[in-house]
Amino acid sequence: MSQNKIWLSSPHMGGNEQKYIQEAFDTNWVAPLGPHVTGFEEDLEIYLDTNTHVGALSSGTAAIHLGLILLGVQTGDEVICQSMTFSASANPILYLGATPIFVDSEKETWNICPIALELAIQERIKKGKTPKAIIAVHLYGVPYQIEAVRAVADKYQIPILEDSAEALGSSYKGQKCGTFGDIGILSFNGNKIITTSGGGAIVTRTAAQKEKAIFYATQARDYAPHYQHSHVGYNYRMSNICAGIGRGQMEVLDKHVLLRRKMHGFYVEVFEAIPGVTVFTAPSEDYFANYWLSALTIDPVQTNGITRETLRLAFELENIESRPLWKPMHLQPIFAEYPYYGSNIAETLFENGLCLPSGSNLTEEDINRIEKVIKQVFG
Ligand SMILES: *Cc1c(COP(=O)(O)O)cnc(C)c1O
Repeated sequence: MSQNKIWLSSPHMGGNEQKYIQEAFDTNWVAPLGPHVTGFEEDLEIYLDTNTHVGALSSGTAAIHLGLILLGVQTGDEVICQSMTFSASANPILYLGATPIFVDSEKETWNICPIALELAIQERIKKGKTPKAIIAVHLYGVPYQIEAVRAVADKYQIPILEDSAEALGSSYKGQKCGTFGDIGILSFNGNKIITTSGGGAIVTRTAAQKEKAIFYATQARDYAPHYQHSHVGYNYRMSNICAGIGRGQMEVLDKHVLLRRKMHGFYVEVFEAIPGVTVFTAPSEDYFANYWLSALTIDPVQTNGITRETLRLAFELENIESRPLWKPMHLQPIFAEYPYYGSNIAETLFENGLCLPSGSNLTEEDINRIEKVIKQVFG
């Protein structure tokens, strides 16, 4: 194992990040506010859609927490959440003392199934409560079924919290992901398509909503010369240093999208002739995926018993990271007691699916090493 480790997705600096950090030091804006925070928010607003309002925060998880607060979620409420996702989508429901209601995926986008979603809403209403919000996720950068999910949400007048943590740079019918929800969220964690080392953002439709989010994110201080509080506050604002990294990263975002899509194209080509292996690909031209992570499913019946574990372990031997898909939340011990609606789509994806090295910084040599392992396993 003398070779360098090939990661699933690692930070990839563009070059100007340190210049922005230096600027923050030179002007002594070493605080959770400052010109880079404002500048980074403006960069994101221009990138997404000039009609959006973006608040930079300490993490994507913090953005989900504040998003749910803005949507009025309180103790005892029910919140619907896509089961197949990272736990950070669902944990903030518990922070608020609300109850998560998990919903299965569909096979096309691997995201929340509109049919199971409607069934879940109807069943919860029958039991006496209309869910307060729907958390829908663009898994691995592939947009969820935007129109079908919106139609169900509107029919029952339930707002959507759009978890776009993995989908900055993705779009649907030309509109950027992050702008479809009543509230959207982004993440700039170290493994995401761009990073601020750690960070996130909330995307709102009005300036007033953004202001309210920032109010909660900065300890909920009422207007007064002394410290006066009439709400529970949080310390969730982004640091000006991190925002400086973000400004540098925004300059290379589109390049990163291009390179991640190129990695996806590489996998499509390598696995094309291998029966039983399907590289996860957006269902139509309407869906533009950033392919934050390339992923595949393996049907062992068609591969003479080769499973996703066979491939994962072969990668591991060569110091190459790969990982099973997100384990659905309704199968997680911490969430096992909560209701789940759907069949076994998410569960089957988890059993057969694997995420592949996808970084925008993979070298030709890295790609050759990856290809060699694939060729070995599938001979
Ligand atoms: C990364 C991620 C988050 C959390 O973002 P952080 O910035 O790491 O807190 C939430 N949801 C999904 C789907 C993610 O992948």
